[in-house]
Amino acid sequence: MPEMNRQILLANRPAGAASTSNFQSVEVPLAPLTYGQVRVRNHFLSLDPYMRGMMNDSKSYTAPQKLGQVMCGATAGVVVESRNEDWRVGDNVTAMFGWQNYGTCDGGGLQRVDATHVPLSAFLGVLGMTGVTAWYGLNRVCAPTPGETVAVSAASGAVGGIVGQLAKRRECRVVGIAGGAEKCRYVVEELGFDACVDYKKGSLQTDLAAAAPGGIDGYFDNVGGVVLDAVMACMNPHGRIAMCGAIAGYEGQKLVMANPALILVSRLRVEGFIVGEHPNDWPVALDELGGLVAGGAIRFRESIAEGLASAPEAFLGLLAGRNFGKQLVRLI
Ligand code: NDP
Repeated sequence: MPEMNRQILLANRPAGAASTSNFQSVEVPLAPLTYGQVRVRNHFLSLDPYMRGMMNDSKSYTAPQKLGQVMCGATAGVVVESRNEDWRVGDNVTAMFGWQNYGTCDGGGLQRVDATHVPLSAFLGVLGMTGVTAWYGLNRVCAPTPGETVAVSAASGAVGGIVGQLAKRRECRVVGIAGGAEKCRYVVEELGFDACVDYKKGSLQTDLAAAAPGGIDGYFDNVGGVVLDAVMACMNPHGRIAMCGAIAGYEGQKLVMANPALILVSRLRVEGFIVGEHPNDWPVALDELGGLVAGGAIRFRESIAEGLASAPEAFLGLLAGRNFGKQLVRLI
């Protein structure tokens, strides 16, 4: 049985942009299990943009990450020791064990997953939080009808890639917005979006108008900032905007909406949401996504960094757009 556990802690808070010096790697002994406890070998760690907000000591919808403690995060792994009759060695589970190789708990917070037909890693992405986020924002907020146009930013990412494919299945015209020609090509040719605009090219407003000649009815916003401004100018009357994320501002950049009057002029409904606050929708969403993934009707891509030590660099890469699809760390 393992004796030591490698962990990554939040060592200090970023002053400006996050850097690898904000993290500290430590090795700690693993105590023998007591009655009722379960030990999991984490195979994958999910890296998510929300972690950047938790590194700050400021008010948000999540409490700040405490200094000197293991960085929070979702994990997928396998039970390797159990003194709890509900959990057996070999069970595949997801949990919130954070940035560490092993997790120990009393069974609370573990979710059993069936990795027979889909890879274990998928339960941290399309069949986990990011998939449900895509499903919720599209269906409950954008709520498009067939023939409408849906736009989504960070379109090649974990959330965005699923939003667009679900919108295609709802018979919408789908326009992605992504950084760079390679991501845009992937979004159109492999994920089946109708068009994708490269916001880094410098002609976002005209390219967007050309990609959505009939205007935009539903916008799934993952980034905020200038991309949101450009989309708002293309919104049709009574359009819906799902405010999912604002990654353009996560490193402290000030985001100002250029023309909020458009909300009135175009009679837009703009709604922010946090997926964790809608537990009743998770089973519905996961049921639909599970069927689509198992049947090969939804495609997804993963960027996998190797080993816990690579997590800080991979996390900074996620914030900078160096990921391509769901960013994970393989821990084993
Ligand atoms: P992604 O896999 O989409 O990765 C983040 C992407 O954001 C990068 O790859 C990059 O893509 C893009 N990006 C980074 N900086 C900028 C910028 N300045 N302008 C435009 N795009 C930028 O991450 P996720 O799919 O995990 O998350 C997407 C969004 O959803 C995030 O904002 C996240 O916080 C939010 N979220 C919200 C939830 C909720 O409950 N509300 C739950 C889960 C996620 P590119 O190369 O194309 O620029």
